[in-house]
Amino acid sequence: MLPSEEAYDLLDLTREIAERELAPRAAEFESRGEFPRGVLRTVGRAGLLGLVYPESDGGGGQPYETYLQVLEILAGSWLAIAEAVSVHTLSCFPVAAYGSERQRKLLPEMLAGDLLGAYCLSEPQGGSDAANLSTRAVRVGDDYVVSGTKAWITHAGHADFYNVFCRTGGPGASGISCLLADADTPGLLPQKPERTMGLRSGPPAQIVFDNAHVAADRLIGGEGVGFRIAMQALDAGRLGIAACAVGLAQAAVDYAAGYAREREQFDRPIAEFQGVSFLLADMATQVSAARALTLAAARLKDAGRPFSVEAAKAKLFATDMAMRVTTDAVQVLGGYGYVADHPVERWFREAKVLQIVEGTNQIQRLVIGRSLTRA
Ligand SMILES: Cc1cc2nc3c(=O)[nH]c(=O)nc-3n(C[C@H](O)[C@H](O)[C@H](O)COP(=O)(O)OP(=O)(O)OC[C@H]3O[C@@H](n4cnc5c(N)ncnc54)[C@H](O)[C@@H]3O)c2cc1C
Repeated sequence: MLPSEEAYDLLDLTREIAERELAPRAAEFESRGEFPRGVLRTVGRAGLLGLVYPESDGGGGQPYETYLQVLEILAGSWLAIAEAVSVHTLSCFPVAAYGSERQRKLLPEMLAGDLLGAYCLSEPQGGSDAANLSTRAVRVGDDYVVSGTKAWITHAGHADFYNVFCRTGGPGASGISCLLADADTPGLLPQKPERTMGLRSGPPAQIVFDNAHVAADRLIGGEGVGFRIAMQALDAGRLGIAACAVGLAQAAVDYAAGYAREREQFDRPIAEFQGVSFLLADMATQVSAARALTLAAARLKDAGRPFSVEAAKAKLFATDMAMRVTTDAVQVLGGYGYVADHPVERWFREAKVLQIVEGTNQIQRLVIGRSLTRA
């Protein structure tokens, strides 16, 4: 069940794009490690890069429940594209929710995907403990002068705008602010891409800020509110990662089931062995459970109800599930699952990152645990 007729059309369009534009290109771009900016432009032209933002800002005006099912379809064809859509959507949040009138003028281009976004929170010394970040911004005249290093930044070197979470005040969360920096800011220096296990067409990179001057009117939401902006963006972003996990795992189940129907051993299809069919049954059941948890959290958000803890549960469950299911998919293919001739080998490598990004699954457990143990 989808929330509107329009949502059915949107999912049909997404399936068409996934089949025509994504699926035929994914393996090659991944093996070449080539960033798919052109494919992202196509996805943007179809309206998929600003789906959850109001139509009055140039967005799609869609509920999260629909957006997450779009992500699921994209992830089933090419995880790096789904992840890029999720990261870009997250990167539009600071301006959309906290931006000044002047900053909001950029929204139509951002939401159409003409301007690609990046979200710069993590640092080499501070990943999980983000409130401890050390990139500093000092006000000098009409500018902030930014110095420090951001790490693991998706779209580094390809993005047109960067949300830079930096320290303008004292220690802790209350000293953090968010600046909107353009890619051509002098002193904003993307480094060499990381050599990653998966997502090779969109690897993250460090960004060095070497006395980068960002105009003071690019401060989003005022000094000291940066951490609140960062955490709110991540709450919603985690739903996106959960949906990516569901889509990746569904693709693995479908592929493994198809293989099991074709592959014969002992003179019959391996699908006829209970050891294989029960494995497939457990895989499919876990995917359905993760999808239900993810969409339930999305419906809370769409209804304007608190959803952070439910988003953490969805991210934790769905991404652990994707790791298990893609591992089992390799098992169903036997030796053929271990080589790059079949996509399950790539999906297995890709699933791992989902347990790490946007708060590791230990951090999700921390969020859930705190909600249970704090009055
Ligand atoms: C492919 C990729 C893309 C990424 N994209 C972005 C991006 O676009 N923007 C961005 O800002 N960041 C991005 N990240 C960074 C990502 O969010 C961090 O890697 C993640 O938050 C973990 O930080 P860390 O790597 O420093 O690990 P650490 O924080 O050093 O953690 C190491 C281990 O310790 C555990 N741990 C830490 N603290 C606790 C605790 N309190 N309790 C229990 N266990 C704990 C962690 O769970 C983990 O297992 C990306 C990372 C990857 C790999």
